[in-house]
Parts: sequence; C-alpha cells; structure tokens
Amino acid sequence: MERTLSIIKPDGVQRGLIGEVIQHLEKNGLKIIAAKMIHMTGREAEGFYDVHREKPFFSSLTAFMTSGPCVVMVLEGENAISRYRDLMGATNYKEAAEGTIRREFATDIEKNVVHGSDALETAVFEIGYFFSQLEIVL
Ligand code: ATP
Ligand code: MG
Repeated sequence: MERTLSIIKPDGVQRGLIGEVIQHLEKNGLKIIAAKMIHMTGREAEGFYDVHREKPFFSSLTAFMTSGPCVVMVLEGENAISRYRDLMGATNYKEAAEGTIRREFATDIEKNVVHGSDALETAVFEIGYFFSQLEIVL
C-alpha cells in the first residue's frame, strides 16, 4: 500500500471539475483517505514548490496556485504514486495520453488541473505539508 498527495488546482476548482477528478480517482481504485479545501498563501505555495524555486516558471506557478482555493487529498492504493501519475497524464496536456485527466481537462502547461507526488519521498513530504496524522482516516 502506498500513499500520494493529490491537489485539484485552482483552475480545476474554479471550472467545476472537482467531481470529474474524483470520479477518475474512484473509478480507478484510488481511495481518498483525507480531503480538504485550502486557499494557499504565497509562502505556503513557495514552500510546497521549493524544488522548483530556480525554474523560470516558479513565480507564475506560485501566483497561479494562490489565485483561488484548491482541493488537497491523500490517496491510498497499491502503487498509488505511479498509478495516479498515469491517471493525470503528462505535465503538458498536449502530450498527455488519451483518457487522462490533463488530456481531457487541461488548457495550459501551467493550468493543468491536478498535481500528484512524483516519488515516495516527495509524497511523504507533501502529505505532511498539508495534513496532520489526525486528519487521515485509517
Ligand atoms: P505537478 O508537480 O503539479 O504534479 P508535474 O510533476 O507533472 O506536475 P512539474 O515539473 O513538477 O510537473 O511542474 C510543476 C508544475 O509547474 C506543473 O504541473 C505546471 O503547473 C507548472 N509547470 C511545469 N512546467 C512548466 C512550464 N514549462 N511552464 C509553465 N508552467 C510549468
Ligand atoms: Mg511535480
């Protein structure tokens, strides 16, 4: 069993795609074991995306992620990290496979609807960034 962090980004929430994204997760056997809505501050978004601090898109990305509320969730399942990455599709929706969330709903390389942890260590960091142990159902 593995856990991963999922975010429905501000574009997904604003466009009314919460239900669509959750349907993809549930249909594919990823169990939601924690969920809440948050509206990140600049500092919170910068801390979350610290690994991208030197990237040219960093300030635009943090501005986007603080532009409205997000839904953050912890997902659990066998190989949850890679299975959820497969469901999301490539970062650039134009390269995302047919049937993936980003292929279906994303409009932009930045406004790509969802986030998912990319490895075991990042999943542990990202889950702990947003959730306390008490917020995760067992
Ligand atoms: P995420 O971390 O959100 O799950 P990812 O792992 O597919 O996405 P990363 O390389 O970690 O992609 O980039 C983080 C986010 O930064 C992307 O999801 C996207 O919103 C934005 N981003 C990535 N590359 C670019 C780019 N070239 N131009 C603008 N925004 C970008
Ligand atoms: Mg990433």
